Amino acid sequence: MFQILDGKATATQIKDEIANEVRRITADGKRPPHLAAVLVGDDGASMTYVANKEKASHEVGFTSSVYRFPANIKEEDLIQTIEFLNKDEEIDGFIVQLPLPKQINEQHIIDAISPNKDVDGFTPVNIGRMVLDESAFIPATPMGICTLLERYNIETSGKHCVVVGRSNIVGTPVANLMSRKNAHANCTVTLCHSQTKNLSDITRQADILIVAIGKPEFITADMVKDDVVVIDVGIHRIPDASKKNGFHLIGDVKHSEVDNKCSWVTPVPGGVGPLTIVSLLQNTLKAYKNKFE
Ligand code: NDP
Repeated sequence: MFQILDGKATATQIKDEIANEVRRITADGKRPPHLAAVLVGDDGASMTYVANKEKASHEVGFTSSVYRFPANIKEEDLIQTIEFLNKDEEIDGFIVQLPLPKQINEQHIIDAISPNKDVDGFTPVNIGRMVLDESAFIPATPMGICTLLERYNIETSGKHCVVVGRSNIVGTPVANLMSRKNAHANCTVTLCHSQTKNLSDITRQADILIVAIGKPEFITADMVKDDVVVIDVGIHRIPDASKKNGFHLIGDVKHSEVDNKCSWVTPVPGGVGPLTIVSLLQNTLKAYKNKFE
């Protein structure tokens, strides 16, 4: 019988730990950490993600702000905002919610973010530091995946970890982290993508399978071996008139058939998503401490 890697419960536990630290900080008369977000356009999913990040910030005692812009904003105007946020002493860390509208080059925006405030861990400096195993802001979703495996004491050393998806924000960094030389990693990693041949032959070899491809219920039971640990990063909104918000969420894994073959599995929702937000909070606290402690 499979067991659930409960992201929601783990996130609650870590949020309590952060809230305790913030209480200690403010009891000393210092201001709490501040997380800012930049939101461009009115995409429903992006607005929900930013609202959730704000809510989580307040739950742990951070202050927060959201800088909203219309979808037709020019790249140079957005860069000006980034430069303002880089300098503002009251802001410890900030994120630019992706994706951005087509007229804006996302990499130009990311490159403009100060590495010291890059709590999403997307800038070249932080990615370079991560790869060199130096102190860095680790991208939130890969960091959350590693935290979940660590908190549940999942054995990783010497295991074959197969990552499906090579995006800069999930697949590539998590592949790097899982191959690290430390007790909570030490995996032999295979990184798969859309050009991988015989994908099922590779996924069936996985002891730990991390799926971040953005295709609903893509991974089916015939693609995994018994007792695999499955991390499903995918999030897809499926219209559902029976739900108050009009949709329900599914992942990149067909849980109705895959879960029974797993030893451990992350649900969707309630798996990786809550840990992503918590990692952002952990990075913001780290940015604050780097500055003040
Ligand atoms: P991207 O679209 O940036 O990357 C998808 C990757 O999957 C690419 O590397 C692509 O390969 C690969 N891929 C696509 N089709 C196939 C296929 N048929 N076989 C093998 N590989 C394939 O996605 P993201 O990494 O940004 O996100 C992935 C999913 O995770 C999405 O559903 C997203 O919503 C979700 N997500 C969830 C988060 C959370 O907090 N839970 C956070 C971030 C994302 P190639 O490089 O060759 O094109």
